[in-house]
Amino acid sequence: MIILVINSGSSSLKYQVRDGDDVLAEGLVERIGEAEVPDHAAALDRVDHEVAEALGDRGIDAVGHRVVHGGERFSEPVLIDNEITRAIERLNPLAPLHNPAAVTGIRAITQKWPDLPQVAVFDTAFHRTLPEYAWRYALPDELYRTHGIRRYGFHGTSHAYVARGAAELLGVDAFTGVIAHLGNGASVTAVRDGESVDTSMGLTPLEGLVMGSRSGDLDPSILLFLLREGYTEKELNELLNRNSGLKGLTGTNDMRSVSEAAESGDKRAQTAIDIASYRLAKYVGGYHVAVGGAQALVFTAGIGENDDNFRSSVVGKLGALGLELDAERNAERSRRARVISTAASAFPVLVVPTDEEAAIAEATAGVVNGS
Ligand code: ADP
Repeated sequence: MIILVINSGSSSLKYQVRDGDDVLAEGLVERIGEAEVPDHAAALDRVDHEVAEALGDRGIDAVGHRVVHGGERFSEPVLIDNEITRAIERLNPLAPLHNPAAVTGIRAITQKWPDLPQVAVFDTAFHRTLPEYAWRYALPDELYRTHGIRRYGFHGTSHAYVARGAAELLGVDAFTGVIAHLGNGASVTAVRDGESVDTSMGLTPLEGLVMGSRSGDLDPSILLFLLREGYTEKELNELLNRNSGLKGLTGTNDMRSVSEAAESGDKRAQTAIDIASYRLAKYVGGYHVAVGGAQALVFTAGIGENDDNFRSSVVGKLGALGLELDAERNAERSRRARVISTAASAFPVLVVPTDEEAAIAEATAGVVNGS
């Protein structure tokens, strides 16, 4: 089954065409809205052209869309129809940067290929199993009832995929442990018997870990303080989402540069790594408790899979849990799922590469074949 996976942003469209594990084509159309690519329909024409070249006389069987926010309704991937599209659109206020773009992408495909089955795969879906004490903020109930203010969690497609990979590596039916997805966005999830029971991102992807350009956890009064100092909503948004995290601390959001700078003695870069790894280590300790004792700690995504220095900085702070990295295994570079701890470690530390496109394609095929 040939699946077109679409990740639609407000001004970009990322795609991949897959047949099972084979990637037949992939690409990125940028600057949608400018002269050359006036809208998402024009972007799709480009994709169509590039894909047709790669596929020859074969055709696409289904489209899988990455949708950031599925609210409380969507706990699984779903076949898209008009009602589902409107339901995703109704969640726009909760994900103003992401959901409108997904809806635009869905409508553009419907226009262009009305008969092609489309499936929505939600970033929030895996976290629908959170218990209320983990998803509810200590705020008046009215804010939840009127505005849906609660923890939703994100990166769920990746966390679910990595949980399955970790279970396979450990030889167990269902994974219990802690997964750290460390990319430009970063989140950590507590998984018990294969289900998400807590996660660091909240109402939006801003809460939790120190990220490339997002602050993660803060004292909310900092916002009140800055409001009184005259900051506007737009400026606060820009500050917290684009100019904080590694970027705010060091001037760059790219962990590779931060790591290199730290290694050559840059103190600011080292401090940023200490802040980010300390934050993550605290979450791992907490989530070890949340899952009733982890079977493993798993690292994934760009930083988690590639940055041995950051991994050792995190695990070095977890001596109290009895964790111990094997320096040689940690330094090894590989695309395979692997154990990087010593035999003496209280529980194993793993690297399990994530692949969100593979997970979306798999989910899409599952829905289309099941329907
Ligand atoms: P996203 O998918 O969220 O855009 P990725 O999962 O690709 O992000 O992760 C991007 C992050 O991974 C960047 O901070 C990048 O610097 C970091 N990264 C990638 N390779 C390495 C490496 N070899 N060493 C350190 N950091 C790396």
